[in-house]
Amino acid sequence: MTHQHATDQNATDQFVIVGGGLAGATAAQTLREEGFAGPILLIGAEPHRPYERPPLSKGYLTGGADRESVFVHPADWYRDHDVTLLTGVRVTAIDRSARAVVTADGTQLRYTKLLLATGSTARPLPAPGADLENVLTLRTMADADRLAPHLVPDAHVVVIGGGWIGLEVAAAARQRGARVTVVETATLPLQRVLGREVAQFFADLHVANGVQLLTGRSVRELRGNGRVESVELTDGTVLRADLVVVGIGVWPTVDLALAAGLAVRDGVMTDASLRTSDPDIFAAGDIAEFEHPRLGRTLRVEHWANARDSAAVAARAMLGQPAVHDAMPYFYTDQYDLGMEYRGHVEPGGYDQVVFRGPNGLVDGKTPETVVFWTQQARVLAAMNVNSWDDGPALERLVQAGHAGRQVDLDRLADPTVPLDALLDPVPDRG
Ligand code: ADP
Repeated sequence: MTHQHATDQNATDQFVIVGGGLAGATAAQTLREEGFAGPILLIGAEPHRPYERPPLSKGYLTGGADRESVFVHPADWYRDHDVTLLTGVRVTAIDRSARAVVTADGTQLRYTKLLLATGSTARPLPAPGADLENVLTLRTMADADRLAPHLVPDAHVVVIGGGWIGLEVAAAARQRGARVTVVETATLPLQRVLGREVAQFFADLHVANGVQLLTGRSVRELRGNGRVESVELTDGTVLRADLVVVGIGVWPTVDLALAAGLAVRDGVMTDASLRTSDPDIFAAGDIAEFEHPRLGRTLRVEHWANARDSAAVAARAMLGQPAVHDAMPYFYTDQYDLGMEYRGHVEPGGYDQVVFRGPNGLVDGKTPETVVFWTQQARVLAAMNVNSWDDGPALERLVQAGHAGRQVDLDRLADPTVPLDALLDPVPDRG
C-alpha cells in the first residue's frame, strides 16, 4: 500500500472503521471524497466485501438481483482508493488508552480516529426447537444464500414475526410459489411502526396474495427430527413446516462499545455528529443512538438510508468538519405489487389522525397509487408514498415542516388536486 497523495492531515493519522457493511463502506468512501489521504483500515467479520442488505429480502431471494449487484463497491474499488479492506476479521476489543483495536488473533491496529459501524444481530427465537435444521434467520448474505433454495413451489414456509423482514420474506416466498404462513404476536403486522390503519393495509395485501396470517399468537415449540417439521403456536395450532424463517427483530451489536466503557443506552450514544462519549470514537448505522436536531430527541434507526447518511456525516466529523446528521428517517419496501417510501418519525401512538391522499386500502385486490400522512394536531409527522415516486422532495419538506411545528389544512392534504407544496404556502387571510 502506498500513500503518495499530498495531504494536510498529520502523516501518522490512521482511520480505522470497524464493521464492513454499508455504513463502513460509505464512511471509507466519504473520507476519500473529502480528501483524507492517510491510511484507512476497514475491518469486517463477514467473508464478503461490503454489500447492501435491502436486496437480501427482496430481489436477491427471488433471483431478480444477482450477487454482483448487491455489493456497495466493485471489488477493485478498495485497492483503487487505497482502502485496506480486512474481511473475515473480527475485532474483539478496543484499547482506548493505546488507541488501538484488537482483532481475534491478537493483532493490535492503531487508530487516530475510530468509527464503529457494527450493525445488528438477528434476535434468535426463544422457543424449544429453534436450533433445528431449516430454522433460519435473514441478516447476512450467507443467510440469504441458505434460505433461497428452500423457497420452492408448494414448500411449507412458516415466517415468525410480521415486521419488515418477515413480510418481505413472505412476499418473496409467495412469489416463488411456496405456501406461506406468517405468525405475529401483535394484532396486526407492523402495528408498532405504522399504526393500526396502515398495518391493516399490509395485512390485507398479504392475505390478498395468499398468505395465511395468524396474529395475536406466538410460537410455543418447533418440532422435528433433526430438521424442522412442524410449529406449535401458543393457541395450540400446529403448522406443517419445511422451512421456518425467524424475523422477530434485531439487536444492535454494541458489545465492543460497552466493553470499552463508552456510553451505551439502547445503542451507542452520540451527538448529532455521531461522536460517542470518547471524542476520537464515532458510531454510525444501526448501533448509533444519536441526537436528532430536527426531532429534538435521540433516535436509533435500523434502516439502509440511515446507515449511508449517518456514516457520511461521521466521516466528515472525523475529519473535523462541522457535519450534523439531520436527515429525516427514510425507508422503503417492495412487496408484491406494492412499492413504498416512508419518511419521518412517529412514536407508537404518537399521531391523532391518518390522512390518505388517495385510496385507503387495496382496490379490487390490487395496490393503488396513494399517499398516507400521519398527523398530530395537523402537523405532518410522517408520510408514505405508495406506488408513486414523484413526490419525494415535497413530502420531505412537509415532514420537516411538521416536525418544526407547521400545521397544514387536513382537507387540502387529502385532496390530490392541491399541489403538496401549496400546503406550506402562507394561509390566506380570512378577514
Ligand atoms: P425485523 O427488522 O426483523 O423485521 P421488527 O422488530 O420490525 O424486526 O419486527 C419484528 C416483529 O416480530 C414484530 O412485529 C414483533 O411483534 C414480532 N414478534 C416478536 N417476537 C415474536 C414471536 N415470538 N412470535 C411472533 N412474532 C413475534
